[in-house]
Amino acid sequence: KADGTVAGGYRFFEPATHQRAVHRMNLEQDLRQAVERGEFTLVYQPIVALEDGRLTGAEALIRWRHPERGLLAPAAFLDMAEETQLIVPIGRWVLDEACRQLAEWNDSLPVGARAVTASAGSAGSGGSAGSARPAGSARPAGSARPAGSAGARLPLLATEPDARLPLLAVNLSSRQLSHDADLVCEVTKTIARHGVPPGRICLEVTETAVHEASLTARSALEAFSGSGIKIALDDYGTGYSSLGHLRDNPVDTLKIDRVFISGLGQNRGDDAIVVAVITLAHALGMKVVAEGVETPEQRARLQELGCDFAQGHLFSMPLSAEDFGELLRSGATVGAVPCL
Ligand code: C2E
Ligand code: MG
Ligand code: MG
Ligand code: MG
Repeated sequence: KADGTVAGGYRFFEPATHQRAVHRMNLEQDLRQAVERGEFTLVYQPIVALEDGRLTGAEALIRWRHPERGLLAPAAFLDMAEETQLIVPIGRWVLDEACRQLAEWNDSLPVGARAVTASAGSAGSGGSAGSARPAGSARPAGSARPAGSAGARLPLLATEPDARLPLLAVNLSSRQLSHDADLVCEVTKTIARHGVPPGRICLEVTETAVHEASLTARSALEAFSGSGIKIALDDYGTGYSSLGHLRDNPVDTLKIDRVFISGLGQNRGDDAIVVAVITLAHALGMKVVAEGVETPEQRARLQELGCDFAQGHLFSMPLSAEDFGELLRSGATVGAVPCL
């Protein structure tokens, strides 16, 4: 009998267990190679203002271009990345790539819609520092940015009031918050290197991360917040849902997990929870994002409840960087069919 039951004093090794062990070993090996070979990519899911469908942000979501298994979603590899702490180099890459992309989108926008206009020092730009809009300073979309060498980019905070550059949300894992001692330094340096305004980056952390690494996490979050970076509490409602976490951490935004959104308008319990979370967040001066909005009914109810932002398949699936950039430049609203 090879089913793992005891027979004649032997305990046979269960084939399924063996298979799982082999799979894990392969996965770990592949993941190490993937880090070295740069097999990851980011997709960007639009986040819209509920009142008018205006595009206000995006969440960067990691994908792995596996050489044999194709494009893999985070569920296939993030646990292993966390266990092996490969999440630290992967997380650094994610932030670097997200900032690079944000700077590229910024440069591809019409000058008046950019969040940062300073590109002094780069050949041919002729732009003086600040918010002057010299006609010749628009670089063609997709052109290479000047390398981040000394003096290449000037002020980081020449933010235009009508800038169309989205808020870009980047997920941080609990391991990064608890095991990466240089996290704060790395993050602020990366943001500065790409010349993106810190206020255009939002770090998404889960309550578990805040809870487990309570003191370290809190001081990291304080440091981020102090430098202007936004903080969102992801998947809110599925973890501790502790009020103390909300009081003690510098949280700008609550993201209501999609398990509560799916029952909106159908399940009285979910409805009550969503109402309570929105009320609580607003009372604490936080914004609310509803995750996983899939139906017009959910959208209408969220609008009725005064939820600020939404993200989900109703508006858009995650997009490639090119497609998101096009959407951004078109200035179009996303799924902007008024439903109230
Ligand atoms: P999350 O941060 O809560 O991200 C939202 C997830 O919901 C994404 O799954 C997104 O594709 C999915 N989603 C969005 N709208 C809908 C919808 O209308 N319906 C449904 N059913 N799903 C929707 P994804 O990309 O598979 O990511 C899963 C999780 O992996 C993320 O959950 C996040 O916790 C983690 N993750 C993704 N990228 C990164 C990363 O770069 N670093 C880290 N540390 N974690 C990441
Ligand atoms: Mg997230
Ligand atoms: Mg989430
Ligand atoms: Mg989630």
